Amino acid sequence: MTCASVLEKIYEYLDGELTADVEQRIREHLAVCQSCFPHFRHEEVFLRFIERRAQIVAAPPSLRRRIMQMLVNEEAARRPE
Ligand SMILES: [Zn+2]
Repeated sequence: MTCASVLEKIYEYLDGELTADVEQRIREHLAVCQSCFPHFRHEEVFLRFIERRAQIVAAPPSLRRRIMQMLVNEEAARRPE
């Protein structure tokens, strides 16, 4: 599994929408990949954060995903490279 395909599925992964097989392959990738893992931690922390906020949890998953994508883009824009 490549980094790109892992990141592509990261929201489904965090939402528990993937099949056990795909989930397992992502977990294995994240366990060894240095570039995906920090990204994944960022997503996970944010997901925990919004889970504590009822009004956002009540939002449909597509909206939550858009909010997360916005934060990811901002984060990426801040990164020097
Ligand atoms: Zn990776």
